[in-house]
Amino acid sequence: MFDELGMNPDQLKNYCDENTIGVVATLGSTFTGIYESVQEIANALDVIENETGLDIPIHVDGASRAFIAPFIQRKLKWDFCIQRVKSINASGHKFGMAPLGVGWIIWRTVADLPQELIFNVDYLGGQMPTFALNFSRPAGQIIAQYYNFLRYGREGYTAIQNDCANTAQYLGSELRKIDLLEMLYDGNGGIPAVCYSLKDENKAEFSLYDLSDRLRMHGWQIASYPLPSNRENITVQRILIRHGVSHDMVSLLLRDIRKGLDYLKNNSVPKSSDNISFHH
Ligand SMILES: *Cc1c(COP(=O)(O)O)cnc(C)c1O
Repeated sequence: MFDELGMNPDQLKNYCDENTIGVVATLGSTFTGIYESVQEIANALDVIENETGLDIPIHVDGASRAFIAPFIQRKLKWDFCIQRVKSINASGHKFGMAPLGVGWIIWRTVADLPQELIFNVDYLGGQMPTFALNFSRPAGQIIAQYYNFLRYGREGYTAIQNDCANTAQYLGSELRKIDLLEMLYDGNGGIPAVCYSLKDENKAEFSLYDLSDRLRMHGWQIASYPLPSNRENITVQRILIRHGVSHDMVSLLLRDIRKGLDYLKNNSVPKSSDNISFHH
């Protein structure tokens, strides 16, 4: 129970009651890159429905994954093929490769988007339904997203995401060879990313924050941060591999990580550096 890194479907019943409006499954966790199993969560909710009559829908937070799974993990069931999934969001500006600021959400049916969230406005001579807080917004990122869809196509997205996944898995396999590190996610099965902590965090003479500092000296911005509630005693670093992060770049990064760790092993650092964290 205390070593989970995501939602445990077996525990859902402890958190669901008649006030639960939905369960959000995250596909690729922001913290680790790991996928939560939508299928297992749906199965657990089926059991809950059988026992209590509560029909609880699922929203899939596919910020990263919804632009990855359709191309390179096509066997995995996570989307509207699961009846309980009523809505999915995806960030165009992440693995969708559109400019910053564009995200998408799709509802299973019109009926799944509550009417009271939609405002019908009579605007300059036409009826315009809007589901947003602000009215005038730029469309550039949306057009850029459509351009990417047409320009790359399914084939292009597949090639790019495969490349990213391979690079992340290479990085994961090389990091695994470093004795001081404990891999939490090695790039296999989730989004193109890796996540790791220090093996003996409490015994070590330095922290990942110190490693962040060393890497920063070589121009790498690799944040260190604690995991969320109940696992906040673990400090991790996460590296995301997106389009443009090449195998060569990752080789240079690995060189600097090894150098940084060697330096920290051989040179004591003041403990107070734990308090210095990275800010966006
Ligand atoms: C990035 C991210 C979000 C936020 O998405 P934006 O498109 O940046 O608003 C939500 N959930 C997860 C899991 C994410 O990785």
